[in-house]
Amino acid sequence: METRVLNGREIQTVLAEELAATISLFPRAPALAIVQVGERPESDAYIRQKVRFGQRVGFEVNHIRLGEQASDADVMKVMAELNGDDRVDGIILQLPLPAHMNTGVIIESIHPLKDVDGLTSASVKRLFSGDTSGFVPATAKGILTLLDRSGIEVAGTHAVIVGRSNLVGKPVALALLSLNATVTLCHSGTADLAKHTRSADILIVAAGKRGLIGREHVSRGQTVIDVGITADPLAEGKRKLLGDVDFDAVKEIVGAITPVPGGVGPLTVASLFENVAAAFERLHEK
Ligand code: NAP
Repeated sequence: METRVLNGREIQTVLAEELAATISLFPRAPALAIVQVGERPESDAYIRQKVRFGQRVGFEVNHIRLGEQASDADVMKVMAELNGDDRVDGIILQLPLPAHMNTGVIIESIHPLKDVDGLTSASVKRLFSGDTSGFVPATAKGILTLLDRSGIEVAGTHAVIVGRSNLVGKPVALALLSLNATVTLCHSGTADLAKHTRSADILIVAAGKRGLIGREHVSRGQTVIDVGITADPLAEGKRKLLGDVDFDAVKEIVGAITPVPGGVGPLTVASLFENVAAAFERLHEK
């Protein structure tokens, strides 16, 4: 059977239309505030994608940039203002922050009802207890949507996740667990990674190590979701992105696979704005 390439851009287009229809019924455009400290080319690129998608669909997106030397107190003052502003529905803190800052404390200063990245302890607790109706972090939510819209069943499958970060691996694991997958989480200390990855029905790779997954790591018929994004060091001048999976090596073996770019990335962006629309509804429900 021919391998399916799961096209995240096509699904994003459908989600964008659905979101535009949903928010057109709202009394005003839902508003997202993106708080960034300092400048980082990767963060700048991700923010541009979010601003472009959000504005195209009809959201208001405000990018607030503080200087590299800003203190925790400076950022928390901005958060307090955004928390109290009725015209702001969702707040995200662009990570990573400069090394001198206390990321955990600043995240906790975001109002739980505006925490559209799902990073505060209130959101984490909800996901931990098996409830995916709150703010599921955008990448995890994007992966669930990708599987769902591609007609790939999760319940009863064995899902293997490579990567255990708080931002990606762990929320993906919890979200799949709540959908009744049997979940294995792998990391840099996992012995015989290939033995685990080959045993997966659904293999999700979020390690940030280009080409980590090759022929020896996959088995026939699997669904492979490549979350990794690394800039190609050989792409002179141009920004070329590579995933964690050696796409060409595995694509004849597996049943379905996401490309990089154009797989999970577009759904991460769309999922963030689904969370903003949900935040608007929750904040304004009577
Ligand atoms: P991270 O915080 O660096 O975590 C990487 C994880 O991968 C860690 O748990 C690490 O294990 C594990 N790992 C590293 N090398 C490994 C190896 N050789 N074998 C097995 N496990 C290994 O990164 P992240 O924030 O989770 O992001 C992961 C990747 O996804 C990055 O490339 C990032 O750019 C990308 N990303 C993409 C999207 C998207 O929308 N497509 C969104 C977010 C992130 P230890 O815990 O043992 O160190």
